[in-house]
Amino acid sequence: MPVETALLSADPDGYARAAALLRGGALVAFPTETVYGLGGDATDDMAVARIFEAKGRPRFNPLIVHVDGVETAREFVEWPHEAEVLASAFWPGPLTLVLPIKAGTGISGLVTAGLPSLAVRVPANPVARALLRAFGGPVAGPSANPSGRISPTTAAHVKAGLSGKIAAVLDGGACDVGVESTIVGLTDAPVLLRPGGLPAEAVEQALGAPLARHGAGGAVTAPGQLASHYAPGATVRLEAERREPGEVLLGFGQVECDLNLSASGDLTEAAANLFAHLHALDETGKPIAVSPIPERGLGRAINDRLRRAAAPRD
Ligand code: AMP
Ligand code: MG
Repeated sequence: MPVETALLSADPDGYARAAALLRGGALVAFPTETVYGLGGDATDDMAVARIFEAKGRPRFNPLIVHVDGVETAREFVEWPHEAEVLASAFWPGPLTLVLPIKAGTGISGLVTAGLPSLAVRVPANPVARALLRAFGGPVAGPSANPSGRISPTTAAHVKAGLSGKIAAVLDGGACDVGVESTIVGLTDAPVLLRPGGLPAEAVEQALGAPLARHGAGGAVTAPGQLASHYAPGATVRLEAERREPGEVLLGFGQVECDLNLSASGDLTEAAANLFAHLHALDETGKPIAVSPIPERGLGRAINDRLRRAAAPRD
């Protein structure tokens, strides 16, 4: 849906307007010290679905959640000793921590891509911090560029890529760091999930121990590390016109089914419901059949996820 993209200034009026837009489920790009983020309310499934839609992302990879401080982060995630060490040393700053998510946080399943972990960061940029304080909740924010394009470090870059697709850009000038945050996984032994603005050596020095590394080709070399994608326990059958005996049907459009991604055939609504519905049907313990989903817009990301859920497992 085309929208007029407003340019908001970094002052109390701009923060109030940006926060009101976020509360209404709209998207606001905002500066951080790394790059501009494409912000949406992390507890609003539809807002998070709109992030993927605006970026034209062909995949539902998990998103980083931005919060205003350690106290807020700890409402959402478990907090092992290493998290305390790294947060004290580097927050606010260009370091993202992946930690086990707590139950009942209200964070959208689309933010975590259905994983039991959550990536959180406290940004240092004063404009980002003012926005987070004005909004008062967790903001999901991947880089504010169309999928496959260069990350934006000015409001003009954001406008060039996403004008007409997001409600507003909060203009905080140029970003200092210019590369994405360093991501460290703490769901198990500390692992470097993505190199970024904070040198890995600094993290290792603070921890007093080396980080496990991602191997070439993206495989995690250390054993027992993060599973990067949620997969249902049950088998998944795609392009199902109807439910076979013993199956549960995840529907789309006007079909008789156990749970419907979107009865009206709305792909944004379907994306918003995807992980919650998959988890709910998985809990029945029955094989899951899925209605055909059109291969356009967010349908491509939904089908990508479903195809991987349906693929044979080792
Ligand atoms: P971006 O939002 O594009 O800067 O990148 C976010 C990246 O953070 C993802 O592509 C993942 O590699 C990583 N990430 C975010 N959340 C998680 C999570 N729950 N578990 C593991 N990695 C995550
Ligand atoms: Mg990016």
